[in-house]
Amino acid sequence: MTRRDYYEILGVKRDASPEEIKKAYRKVALKYHPDKNPNNKVAEEKFKEAAEAYEVLSHAGTRQKYDRFGHDGVRGPDGRGPEMHMEETFAQFSDIFGSGSFDSFFRQGQPRVRRGTDLRIKLKLSLKEVANGVDKKIKIKRYVTCDACGGNGAKNGTAIATCSTCKGTGQIRKVANTMLGQVMTTVPCSACNGEGTTISELCPTCQGEGRLLKEEVLKLQIPAGVSHGMQLSMTGKGNVPVRGGAPGNLLILIEETPDDFLKREGKNVHYNLYISFIDAALGSEAEVPTLTGKAKVKIPAGTQSGKVLRLRGKGIRDINSYSKGDQLVHVHVWTPQQLTKEEQEMLTVLQGSSNFTPNPSKKERSFFDRVRSLF
Ligand SMILES: [Zn+2]
Ligand SMILES: [Zn+2]
Repeated sequence: MTRRDYYEILGVKRDASPEEIKKAYRKVALKYHPDKNPNNKVAEEKFKEAAEAYEVLSHAGTRQKYDRFGHDGVRGPDGRGPEMHMEETFAQFSDIFGSGSFDSFFRQGQPRVRRGTDLRIKLKLSLKEVANGVDKKIKIKRYVTCDACGGNGAKNGTAIATCSTCKGTGQIRKVANTMLGQVMTTVPCSACNGEGTTISELCPTCQGEGRLLKEEVLKLQIPAGVSHGMQLSMTGKGNVPVRGGAPGNLLILIEETPDDFLKREGKNVHYNLYISFIDAALGSEAEVPTLTGKAKVKIPAGTQSGKVLRLRGKGIRDINSYSKGDQLVHVHVWTPQQLTKEEQEMLTVLQGSSNFTPNPSKKERSFFDRVRSLF
C-alpha cells in the first residue's frame, strides 16, 4: 500500500507551524471521527491516517526525519508505520476522544502488536577496539517466548476460554460526554485486558506469563570509529512482553576506557613523546605506541620542544565518512633534573658555546607573540 503524504493528509503546507498542524488535525479528526461515521470503513481509515500523520508531524524529531527521508525515515520496529505513542495526542484532544481509550479506535480491524521492553547494557571498549572495530561476545539475560505454550500463557497453549465479561470482543461500550454531545465509545475490557479471551489453565512452565528469563550469549560486531556515549541498537534482542508480542530492542551504550598513553580527540589521537636534549640536538629515532602497534618516528636534528610530528592515517576512522584521523606526536625535550659531577663538568664546557645560546627563529618567536597578544 502506498502511503499518502502526511502534509497532504492534514491539508497543510510543508512549512506549517506546530499550531497550524494541531488545528488542521483537529479538523480532520472531527470530520472522520468514528462516532460521527459509524460503520464507515473509509472514514475509519482516514481517521487513522490523520492520527498517524499528526503523530509524526507533531514531534520535531520525527517531523525532521520525515522531511528528509519520507515514510522510510519514520518506520517503527514492526517495519510498517511509525511507532505510535498516542497517549499524548489523546490527552491533548480529550474533547474529541472523550474518556475512552485511543487504543479502542485502532483495535478494531487489526490487533495492535504489543512490544516488549528494551534492554540496556553498557559496553566498555578500549581505544584500540574503538579504532579498529571489534567482535564481542556478551552474556545477557532477557525474556524470551515460553516454548511450552508458545507465549500465550495457557497450558499447552490451548487452555483458553472466551471472556465472559465482553463475550470475546475485548471491548466494553460506554457513554461518554464529548464536544460532539453524548457518544458511545468503547474501552478495552478490564477482565481480559482487551484480549477477548481468558486462560482457563495456566502454563506450568511459565506460570501463565508466556515468557521465561533466559541467559543468552550474543555476538556483537562493533564497527570501527564508535565513540563514548554512542548507542547501538540490536533489533528484537530485548524482552518479549507478557503473553506474546514483538520483542523490544537491545540498546548498547558505548563506554570508552581511556588509554594509558594515547588520548583521543575526535578522529585524532595525541601522544606525548619525551626526548633528551641530546637526541633533540643530534637527531634520533624514537618508538611510539599507536592504535595498531608500535611505530618509529624520526627526530630531525635540531628539534625544538613543542614540535608536533604527524603520523598520517594513524588516528581513528570516522564512523560516517570513513576518512581517517592522524596521530599527533607532541615532542617534549627533557631537561635532566639530576647530574653527576662528570656530567656537570661536560655541560659546563658547553655552557658558553654560542650554539647553546637560545636563538629562536621568526617562526618560533611568532608563537610566543601570539601567546602574548592574548594578554
Ligand atoms: Zn508457558
Ligand atoms: Zn473481556
